Amino acid sequence: MPDLTNDFSWSRSRDNVFSECKRRYFYHYYGAWGGWEAGATEEVRRLYVLKQLASRQMWAGRVVHDAIEMALHIFGAGRDVPVEPFIADVVQRMRGDWRSSRDGRYRDNPKTLALFEHEYALDLKPEVWQALSRNVTACLRNFFRLPLLAEIRTTAAEHWSIEHWSKVLDFEGTPIWIAPDFGFWTDEGRLALIDWKTGAADPDAAAFQLGCYALYARDMLGVEPEKVDLLEVNLREPTVTPHRWDDARLADIREQLRLSIRGMKAYLADPDANVAVIDAFERTEELRICRWCNFRVVCRPDL
Ligand code: SF4
Repeated sequence: MPDLTNDFSWSRSRDNVFSECKRRYFYHYYGAWGGWEAGATEEVRRLYVLKQLASRQMWAGRVVHDAIEMALHIFGAGRDVPVEPFIADVVQRMRGDWRSSRDGRYRDNPKTLALFEHEYALDLKPEVWQALSRNVTACLRNFFRLPLLAEIRTTAAEHWSIEHWSKVLDFEGTPIWIAPDFGFWTDEGRLALIDWKTGAADPDAAAFQLGCYALYARDMLGVEPEKVDLLEVNLREPTVTPHRWDDARLADIREQLRLSIRGMKAYLADPDANVAVIDAFERTEELRICRWCNFRVVCRPDL
């Protein structure tokens, strides 16, 4: 297998980390690089393990997304899903993963669940964890009851995109990672792209994300914005919010992407070779961000 190279690419999560703290961005995308290799230095390995940490809310969101993906595969194969046993199985697996994280297995197996709360030994009451599994259960029950799901199931499964039709898109020479959670063609011949949400709404972030999906539809699938329905599905409520896009809004998204990519590259010592030097990446002044940062123990241990 050829050696992996740390090539520059753009994603929404990368953009988020970059906006929050430049130092964290460095650790995540450069400092931790290669930490999976047997010969990695202790420091790089440490950063790599920290990079994998997920907050409990992120974990719950991932569990819901994975379960939905699995359910849609089953529906797509023409079978039914027994809802309550299915959800009970998801919660059961969550318990196993939680125990694995609590026991610190991720230090030897960084691909297993690694919760921020365990690494930083947060003293959380059992009710907090119970609320988390209740939230996952509620989101999944809501998913199975959605009229939108019933509508999806009346359409031809061969046109569904359960994972992602494609993962990486070339944007003016930069690979960018954009993938809707789910896509299908409606009976009216429109392309519906869905974003499943399990957390609190953030209208600005959602608008940029959905705009990126509109770009994906246009540039990857060749579908014009006026033929696309972007659906933001909040599984906690549950609500389905449709968004429409147009060429002008798409132009704004392209400009936002250009600015983001330019900003990231401006920090590099060698943008062509994607080489970064830690000193160029300042620490944030906002200590509330540090509180929940995976890299706190190496960057601001005094906190
Ligand atoms: S601890 Fe704070 S300053 Fe350091 S990387 Fe994290 S967010 Fe940035």
